[in-house]
Parts: sequence; structure tokens; C-alpha cells
Amino acid sequence: MLGLRLHGAGDARLDDIAEPEVRPGTVKVRIACAGICGSDLSLYETAPIPLDWPHPLLGEQGPHVLGHEFSGHVSEVGDGVDDIPVGALVAVQPSLADGTCPACVRGETNLCEQSGFIGVNGGGGGFSEYVVVPAHAVFVLPDGFTPELGALIEPLSVALHAVRQSRISEGQTALVVGGGPIGLGLLLCLRAQGVARVIVSEVSTSRRALAAALGADAVDPRETDPVAYAREVTGGQGADASFDAAGVGPATFVPAVEALRKGGTTVAVAMYHERVEFDPGMLMVTEKTCTGSFAYTRDDFRSVIEAVADGRIDPLPLVTKRIRLEDVLEDGIALLRGDGRDTEVKILVTS
Ligand SMILES: [Zn+2]
Repeated sequence: MLGLRLHGAGDARLDDIAEPEVRPGTVKVRIACAGICGSDLSLYETAPIPLDWPHPLLGEQGPHVLGHEFSGHVSEVGDGVDDIPVGALVAVQPSLADGTCPACVRGETNLCEQSGFIGVNGGGGGFSEYVVVPAHAVFVLPDGFTPELGALIEPLSVALHAVRQSRISEGQTALVVGGGPIGLGLLLCLRAQGVARVIVSEVSTSRRALAAALGADAVDPRETDPVAYAREVTGGQGADASFDAAGVGPATFVPAVEALRKGGTTVAVAMYHERVEFDPGMLMVTEKTCTGSFAYTRDDFRSVIEAVADGRIDPLPLVTKRIRLEDVLEDGIALLRGDGRDTEVKILVTS
């Protein structure tokens, strides 16, 4: 079968690879749809995982197949799997956890000491034809779901986890810095939770237009200072919560913190390209909270599926392009690293 494997920095190839075989306790899924994530672009650019380093929970050496946001149809189940019907449309939670470390025992499986991801660290991936995954990673999707909706559960779970980290309440005001897939996913999750006003600060015209169409106050930070705007619309107080979904460095983190009201919370939900200088004394006098958000738990995944199923969240407007697996390098990864940065949000690989 065809699989997009990462051989090194800037070197991903559509290789002819062996079809994976089902084992006891696993499920074989024929991939129907897979999303391209910003982290796929980072992996492509830097290939930070040595090919000869096997992840302790997967035990495989590289090159690994890319793609961790995917859905598909169950083609086969292994011995001991009796609650997942063949033919079912499923989404796969790609995050790995050992289940035994202190973080896992606390229930914070996203902070597992042996954290890793199917589609990053091995175990197959979404940019291929078949994957074999542990049965516990599989979510059978309710009636009405499509493969495209299924592939969007993973990025929305990243967003929902960050919203939960912010402790924002109904009727409050949020600032989201960055209107990419995660920033706009945050917007959808915040609106679904009844947050009254979501300000999205984004430089791209098309992404800003999409944010506005989805109910945000969309501002161009080169024309409108998001900090001043957040204060203006909250009677001088500032936003109750903010999110840095851009991770540029001081240019995106500092306004996220400054736009907060006293006692507000900012959540870093991006990899940072630059370090940020920081005065902890500011936290003392304002009781602002700065925290982070990493991936998601099983409960986040389940909650997103419920919210999409009952219509509280409709992520389809985030999909700006659909391509074939054969074209993933040129029409997907190369596009998103070039002009597509401004024009695209989520590109889906469909079969
Ligand atoms: Zn663990």
C-alpha cells in the first residue's frame, strides 16, 4: 500500500509499504480521511525524531508514516475485540499513554511520561491506506457522521482541552491569537460553550474572514491592537481568558497575557518559534494565570464527538481543500508551507 513516510528533514516520500496485519486486541482501519496538521509541517521541516529511536510503547524504528488526524472504516478486528463492528466508521485517538506512570494514574494521560502519537512515532499513520491500532484508541462514530467530520475530531479535541484549561465560563469574553486550524477550533469550542464574545487576532485576510463568518470579532493586529480592543469591549477590564494558538514568540504571547483582566487565564496552545521574556512579578500583582495545553484525554475526544453529533460544533467550514493521497506532498505539505499559509485552513486527504 501507499504511505507517506518521513525519512529526514525535508524528505517525506510516498513509499510502497507492507499493509499492516491485525493482531489480538487491535482493529484494522481502512483510512477514509486524514487532515494535515501544523505539526506535520514542523515534523517535515525538522524531523526531530531519530530514525533509529524506537518509541518505548511502539518499539518501531523509522521511517514512520505521517498523519495523526484521521478516520476510516473498520475492515477487520483482532481476537478479543467484540464491541467494534466491521464496517463501522471510526475516529482514532492517536495519543499514546502507558497507563501506569504517575500522570496516567492521576488521569492526566495527555501528560504521560511516555507520551507519543500514532502517525508521529510509528504505529502507522493517516497518510496511508490502512492502519492497525489498539481497540481502546478507536471511537465508533454515531449515525450522521462522515469521514471528514471524523478526521476533524482530533484537532477539535486539542482545542477543547485548551478551552477546559482556561476555565472560561458562559457569557464571558475570550481572545484567540492566531486563526489557523487550532485557533478557529478554539472559536468553535468557545462559542459552543456559550462564551459571549470571542476576539480572533489574525493577519491573514481569508482566515480573518472565516473567523468573522463563524461568529468572532476578527481583528487584524497590524491595524487594531487586540489588547486595546479586548479592553474596549469589556468596559476596560480585559478578556476573561486568552489563547496563543500562533506561538510566534513575544509578538503573540505578550498580547495574549496583556489582554487579560486581572485573575484571567492565558493558555499556550502552540509550539513557540522564539523565546519570550517574562516578569513573574506581573503575575503576583494581577493574579493572572499562564498555563499550557497539550493534546487531549479520552474524555476530550468523547466530548467533541458528542458536540459534533448534536450540532453544537460544525467544523466543516474549516476545510478549505480536499486532495488525494497521491498529491499530499505537492498539494498539501508544500502548499501549506508556501502560499497556502494565508489562504488555507484545513486540508483533508480523502480516498
Ligand atoms: Zn503514563
